[in-house]
Amino acid sequence: SAEIINGKELAQQLKDNMKNEVTELRDKGITPHLTVVLIGDNPASKSYVKGKKKASAETGISSDIIELPDSTSEEKLLQLISELNNDPEVDGILVQLPLPEHIAEQKVIEYIDPGKDVDGFHPVNIGRMMTGKDTFLPCTPFGIVTMLKSKNIAISGQHVVVIGRSNIVGKPVGQLLLNENATVTYCHSKTKGLKQFTKMADILIVAVGIPGAIGADHIKPGAAIIDVGINRLADGSLTGDVDFEEAKEVASYITPVPKGVGPMTITMLLQNTIKAAKGRKA
Ligand code: NAD
Repeated sequence: SAEIINGKELAQQLKDNMKNEVTELRDKGITPHLTVVLIGDNPASKSYVKGKKKASAETGISSDIIELPDSTSEEKLLQLISELNNDPEVDGILVQLPLPEHIAEQKVIEYIDPGKDVDGFHPVNIGRMMTGKDTFLPCTPFGIVTMLKSKNIAISGQHVVVIGRSNIVGKPVGQLLLNENATVTYCHSKTKGLKQFTKMADILIVAVGIPGAIGADHIKPGAAIIDVGINRLADGSLTGDVDFEEAKEVASYITPVPKGVGPMTITMLLQNTIKAAKGRKA
């Protein structure tokens, strides 16, 4: 049965290392600071933001949450971002998505100083990632690559199949693994004959948002399975996109949900915030 890649444990190890990095920065008079902007009262967003604040505190990164009502105008949000862009004490700016419908998400993303874009969503940073330059990598894909490397899972020359093509997970994780010399196939809701592709995968990355979408019959024996899905069931519990019990009998490595990719995502946000603080202009 497959070896489980415990994202929670790996995240804890990384956070322990980050503590030292933060202490060194503080000794130089730089306290890494993350500002999170939360608009409205979406319960999932609230809980993500709380998790980000808690994880920051664990590593000595200072953070604050600016909470604004649903009725906040786009103009007011852009003005706030402009102030944060110009605040020398703010290293990272994260605007929690989704935004209310009257605010243009892309406009907001593009307004953030790319040097403070710790989510890695600004087109400048996406372009830098595409061309293999040093940049803020988007947190979930960065976490996935870190998990694979933590187990020394071969990437170069391997066939990676990504299911899902969102801008925050599917597309960038395929690109990052291409940068690591994988052969990458993207599948999505319009893909015909999904199984014929997934069964070729040495590494299968599932970011679909449907519980149990992937079972043992989609998996090549010995493949590494990364389950990105976070789905809340009627009883309140969380589950991934992969049928874990079935898949673990076929795969060589598998990530659980919870305690898989989720905790890694937050941890990479902290890593990006430290990177931003290191680049602070004197
Ligand atoms: P999304 O919800 O924006 O889109 C889903 C993707 O799945 C689309 O690209 C679509 O083409 C594809 N898809 C839908 N049905 C399909 C099918 N039947 N067959 C093949 N492909 C299909 O994607 P997202 O924002 O990347 O989120 C995906 C999942 O990952 C969600 O459960 C989300 O909660 C979770 N997520 C987890 C983390 C984390 O930190 N672990 C981060 C982001 C998202």
